[in-house]
This record gives sequence, C-alpha cells and structure tokens, in this order.
Amino acid sequence: MTEKTRNNGTLYVVATPIGNLEEISPRAVKVLQSVDLIACEDTRHTKKLLNYLGISQPLTSYYREKEQQKAKNLLQKLQDGKKIAMVSDAGTPGISDPGAILVNMARHAGIPIVPISGPSALTTALSIAGLEDSQFFFAGFPPAKKKARKTFFKQLAHLPWPIIFYESPHRIEQSLQDCLHCLGDRQGMLFRELTKIHEEYRQGSLSELATGCTGKNRGEFVVLVKPAPDNTTDKPEDLDELILWYQSRPDMTLKDAVQRIAADLDLPRTRIYKKALTLWKK
Ligand code: SAM
Repeated sequence: MTEKTRNNGTLYVVATPIGNLEEISPRAVKVLQSVDLIACEDTRHTKKLLNYLGISQPLTSYYREKEQQKAKNLLQKLQDGKKIAMVSDAGTPGISDPGAILVNMARHAGIPIVPISGPSALTTALSIAGLEDSQFFFAGFPPAKKKARKTFFKQLAHLPWPIIFYESPHRIEQSLQDCLHCLGDRQGMLFRELTKIHEEYRQGSLSELATGCTGKNRGEFVVLVKPAPDNTTDKPEDLDELILWYQSRPDMTLKDAVQRIAADLDLPRTRIYKKALTLWKK
C-alpha cells in the first residue's frame, strides 16, 4: 500500500435483486449495513429495498445524467477514507446501468474496489435459455430512435452467436418488429418480469413473439435471438444468386427469403420481391 492510498476508503459495487427481494445475498446485506454511504440511482427506489432489509445507512443519488459530476464527489469521499456501496435500481451496476465512470475513477486513484456479485437480468435469462454452446453476444439496449435502432440491428445481423438485448415495455413491440425486419424471422425467446409474480418466458419465431407483444405491454424484457440457421460463409452477395441460394434452403418461403435478403443486402423489399418472382421455382 502506498502513502497515497493508505487512508483510502473502499468502493463496493453491490448487485441487488431484479424483482424478488429475497434474492439479495447475505454478503450484500452485510456490506450495505456497514458502509458510510450508499450511492444509488433513485433514492426512493433503493429506500424500499433498505426498508425491507431494515437498513438505514445514508443514501445519495448517482444517476446517468449526472454520472461524471456525482462520481467526482464520491471519489473525494473515498479518498477521505469513506466506505461507499454503489447499487443500481435493479441487478448489477455497470450492466446497462451507471457504474463504469466511478469504477474507472476509483481504479485510477488506487481505491480498492470490491464487487459483491448477485442478480442480473442477463444471467437470469441465460440460466433458463438452454444455450448448449455457452457463447452469446450481449447488445444492451437498442437505441430509442428508429433509424439508429435499425442500424444497431443490422450491425448484429451477421454475428454467428445468439444475441441478447434488454428492452422496456413501451418499446418492446417496435424493437421486435425492427429486429424481425433486419435479422429475418429467426427463432428467439422473450423473458418478462423475471423473478417477479408475473414472470413469463416465451419461445418462437420473431414474428410470433412480435405478434404476441402488440398493445399494452407491462414489465421489463430480456430478448434472446438465435443466429440464422444458414449463417454460412458460402452465402452469395449478388441479388440473383442470393435469391436462388435461399430458394435451395429447406423450408424457405418466398416471403421469408425476401425479408432476409432485404436485411442481408440492405435493399428495398419491393425490388427484391419483383426479382424473386421471376427467379423463384424457375
Ligand atoms: N443492471 C441491470 C442488470 O444487471 O440486469 C439491468 C438494468 S437495465 C437499466 C434494466 C433492463 O434490464 C430492463 O429494461 C430489462 O430489459 C432488464 N430487466 C431488469 N429486470 C428485469 C426482470 N425482472 N425481468 C426481465 N428483464 C429485466
């Protein structure tokens, strides 16, 4: 330990439940009880957890919009020797949640950082997804704006692994539609309200999942999209050849082929459809 770090405090990065409060770990409780300060996104939200646990440690807000500025204040306190726990509204801080800025500042300042592991919607969904090959790609939240969201999905289209992303109730329908448009009608899974009373998971093609998500949606979602079954390197890039290539795939319909080619080549569906009508089943 250097002179500079001797009087430093400790930053604990504490995972909290994503729904069911009984999922808080005994170690997390011990840490929350013992720190000088708890930094959280929404003090009202975290207060509910602390009331449930009978903990009355002081709270301070640390949220995305003011992350940089708040992190500086917290760093000062850590350098003054305080022990601080950082939590997010739910799950593990730093996973699609604030946390990275303070962690990086603390590391640069030589402050000890202790992760208190626990729930995350990502690992909870994966634990029941049944992926035999444990590789996957976590994409976080799709962007809120439609154009950026489509670009986001197009960038994911050629990955050979299952893709997992987070979505909120008011954008799930639109995100599934855009995902379908850009990735084709792949198989997927939808996990809703994990660990909560209305926990639900569904499996099916993206079009089936999107159809089941129309209207008012409640709860938080994790979406898993399987790789395209024909994600192979022999896929042609020429439109005519690609139409014939899709035609030779088992169980491929003209409609599905048009949708996939639109995503593959970033061409309007009407143009592909016209061409496909002349080539399909010749
Ligand atoms: N840091 C958190 C974690 O470790 O999972 C994620 C925080 S992110 C701001 C919130 C998103 O996580 C939600 O919009 C939803 O996509 C997902 N999520 C959180 N809780 C969930 C739950 N109980 N069931 C399904 N998804 C959930």
